[in-house]
Amino acid sequence: MRQTLAAVITTAMAAHAARAQALQPIHLAAEPFRAPEVRLLDGPFAEAQARDAEYLLSLDTDRLLARYRADAGLEPRAEGYGGWEAEGIGGHTLGHYLSAISRMYAATGDRRFQDRAADIVAQLAECQAANGDGYVAAIPDGRRVFAEVARGDIRTKGFDLNGVWVPWYTIHKELAGLRDANLYCGNSQALAVMRGLADWALRTTDNLSPEQLHTMLRCEQGGMNEVAADLYALTGDARYLTLAERFNDHQVLDPLAAGKDILPGLHANTQVPKLIGAARQHEVTGDPALGAAALFFWNAVTAHHTYATGGNSLNEYFGPPGAIASRLDGNTTETCNTYNMLRLTRRLHSWTADARHIDYYERAPYTHTLASQNHLTGAVCYYVPLRPGSQKPYQQLDSDFTCCVGTGMENHASYGDMIYSHDDEGIFVNLFIASTLRWPDAGLQLTQETRFPRRAAHHAHALARRPA
Ligand SMILES: [Zn+2]
Repeated sequence: MRQTLAAVITTAMAAHAARAQALQPIHLAAEPFRAPEVRLLDGPFAEAQARDAEYLLSLDTDRLLARYRADAGLEPRAEGYGGWEAEGIGGHTLGHYLSAISRMYAATGDRRFQDRAADIVAQLAECQAANGDGYVAAIPDGRRVFAEVARGDIRTKGFDLNGVWVPWYTIHKELAGLRDANLYCGNSQALAVMRGLADWALRTTDNLSPEQLHTMLRCEQGGMNEVAADLYALTGDARYLTLAERFNDHQVLDPLAAGKDILPGLHANTQVPKLIGAARQHEVTGDPALGAAALFFWNAVTAHHTYATGGNSLNEYFGPPGAIASRLDGNTTETCNTYNMLRLTRRLHSWTADARHIDYYERAPYTHTLASQNHLTGAVCYYVPLRPGSQKPYQQLDSDFTCCVGTGMENHASYGDMIYSHDDEGIFVNLFIASTLRWPDAGLQLTQETRFPRRAAHHAHALARRPA
């Protein structure tokens, strides 16, 4: 049937209106208070934060930046670190470090962290300018891989892209670090560098077909779909929403949205960030399928794939649902997974203020995250072993630089994230962690005094008063 021009235009306008309608951010039922409104008081969490702060200050930022400078043709100011930093994933630690010091600045107000973040961002900007195309990274052979990808020449066995170890994962860590430097330190140059790198990522993936993207996403990529959605929220530039959509792994997201537990046999921490990205897109666009995928995933993981500590995975992989008791070993509960599950939980809790999310959030930081740090040295665990009689294997602080050292830097700077949240009418006290909260909009200051978990929870009480 032929349509008149007016009918065609009306149909197009209706489609546009429907899309604009779909791009409605969802209403949040409970928004977390975060640093700097929240400050920890004496207790095990403040002690863990202090040990982390000491560790972060002990690292040499010039060593973390060395391979970025060399990759851009600039003179390194120090020798690069070893461990994973000297391998194909080189540069991932700088992203975690930038996130961690930005959060630590917000959590403590210590300007040394803000100054370090500013120095790192300025040097990344210098490297980016030297590169000239927005790219900035320390990935060995990264330029060759991304040039091949841009041409549609894409090969992966799951943890490599054209022979290099998870390069998009490393780019994701950089983008997240830049986002956090902007959010927590107010560093506007970080947003400019982030945009330059995201624009490069857009160009690199511009000509890829859905099938080529699908192949590329079989390689672990962290949460590229999350940071791109964050950048959309920060800038209002819809191109970054397009970038987020390109990194949605529908092979995983679609069955989860349909309520199928496809997790057995999958590498656990490859999946969690994809769902954080789905959740973040649901928040900024209202896309119901992405929201459903995130909710189903969270329910499946916490109900059927999670140990008593709140951790998940054996040898990094999900197993059969409900069979967790038969999967006790020295290589249980990779710590990165819990870091990411807590980030997902924060998002989901804000949608509905459902106490089930806080029940999980109450468990994992006390029994996994806090326990993953050596209380004498500040070193952190990759796996927290649950086999009876096993010992915690702590990572070397200045030479391993694994994924869990990176997320470990962030974990102990983030305890203030979920202690309190609020809706339009009041405050939720979610966690028994000694702390103060300032809520200037409500003219309120709240102090929570507790020795939990060293002493029973009933010692906890909160005092609310209007500030003088
Ligand atoms: Zn890890």
